[in-house]
Amino acid sequence: MTGGSYVMALDQGTTSSRCILFDKEGFIVSMAQKEFNQYYPQPGWVEHNPREIWSSQLAVAIEAMANVGATADNIAAIGITNQRETTIVWDRETGEPIYNAIVWQCRRTADQIEELKKEGWDSLIKDRTGLVPDAYFSATKIRWILDNVDGAKVMAREGRLAFGNVDSWLIWNLTKGKIHVTDYTNASRTMLFDIHRCQWDEELLSLFKIPISMMPEVKPSSCIYGDSDPSVLGGPIMIGGAAGDQQAALFGQNCFEPGQVKNTYGTGGFLLMNTGSDAIRSEHGLVTTIAASLGPRPEYALEGSVFVAGASIQWLRDEMRMLKSSAASEEYADMVADTAGVYVVPAFTGMGAPYWDPYARGTIVGLSRGCRKEHFVRATLESICYQSADVIKAMEEDAACPLKELRVDGGASANNFLMQFQSDICGVTAYRPKCIETTALGAAYLAGIATGYWKDKEDVERNWQLGRKFEARMDEAKRAELLKGWHRAVRAAIAWSEDI
Ligand code: ADP
Repeated sequence: MTGGSYVMALDQGTTSSRCILFDKEGFIVSMAQKEFNQYYPQPGWVEHNPREIWSSQLAVAIEAMANVGATADNIAAIGITNQRETTIVWDRETGEPIYNAIVWQCRRTADQIEELKKEGWDSLIKDRTGLVPDAYFSATKIRWILDNVDGAKVMAREGRLAFGNVDSWLIWNLTKGKIHVTDYTNASRTMLFDIHRCQWDEELLSLFKIPISMMPEVKPSSCIYGDSDPSVLGGPIMIGGAAGDQQAALFGQNCFEPGQVKNTYGTGGFLLMNTGSDAIRSEHGLVTTIAASLGPRPEYALEGSVFVAGASIQWLRDEMRMLKSSAASEEYADMVADTAGVYVVPAFTGMGAPYWDPYARGTIVGLSRGCRKEHFVRATLESICYQSADVIKAMEEDAACPLKELRVDGGASANNFLMQFQSDICGVTAYRPKCIETTALGAAYLAGIATGYWKDKEDVERNWQLGRKFEARMDEAKRAELLKGWHRAVRAAIAWSEDI
């Protein structure tokens, strides 16, 4: 093996830590994965143990190297991608976290957000950070830790505390406490970062009473942050990039041009549109966020999420017990020509963009005596596409440009029926790459380009290989009729929660 044969991607997700080694062609050479514990101390609260995050991540890195007999010399660079917004605060002197990681899903600070909205901070927060104020982002989680951990406020004032999202925490541990940094994309999810000036926003820091001394230095997503400590992986390795998971996927899908969109079909669905150097302020309930890019000048993206995507198929499988496996949904859907007029709106936790109704609940409309399981399964799969179509429409309106193409990835993108219906209902071509590990690949590209393993964007673009392309076959009138039915069904889901 010659020096620097692979790039290592550390993909620190919400339920597991993974490590993938990629070669120059973007092929997976080795992969290791380890789940870790989820803690639910109260209803609606979600925590991780930062020590477990680090130990599981380190274990899979070592395992992925051992699988192919690689040493530190064989790793050209480390790229990091991570669950976003999750908040860790630690003592700079000991390196010990002062509280568990508060996970992005955790709703414990919802009241703080209600207060902020009442006080009229929405508009300023949206102007500066591109975000709609929500407990999801890091700011109120940091505040909660400072307010609730004994002695934290004093330590913060003395400059002893460090805040980081998971990327910062991993880099801190990889460098044995030498480097406290984050990248633009992660910073843009804290609700404390001015995405236009690319700096921590002093006014927001003081609103949340967070001393700036806690904050990591912010750097571009593709840049050499420093070497890992030799004791960690058996020798120093350059850390060359970091990006939040969805931004890494956008980069891994090579959506480098404004107007390009990727949709990740996992538990939820995450749509991001590259908008280039324009930070577009959404008028349709999307958020504006920083995209992973190469230079020091930021590039932006519009983002919209579908709360329940693949999870609706899990629900059919686990709660409804209609399916033996998620993949079986495709066979059932293909057995019927349509849904027999049935629409399923899986608003289990409310409706996201562009409706933003936290009170809406799951609704099934259009049932008739002839409705069979096959129709029901098909309607549930179609709901994933309808929800994505609504977000895509919002993006097109905000960006004032029609969708060029849709690049797809994530576990449920393996479903051919789903991809064909997505293409039909949006009237766009969906491209599914051979490698759907686009999140890890994006992190590898960011790091590999920074360290010269790959030359530039064109160099990595050559690696993108089409797995399958789905072209729209539905005529305009049919599409309009189906969408009309879907929007009636959504209105029913919203009306159900209103009339109480
Ligand atoms: P995450 O990264 O969010 O955990 P994955 O990308 O691994 O999710 O995708 C898993 C989700 O996709 C699950 O909700 C599962 O039900 C769904 N899924 C996986 N395969 C299929 C399939 N062939 N058809 C439909 N849904 C699927």
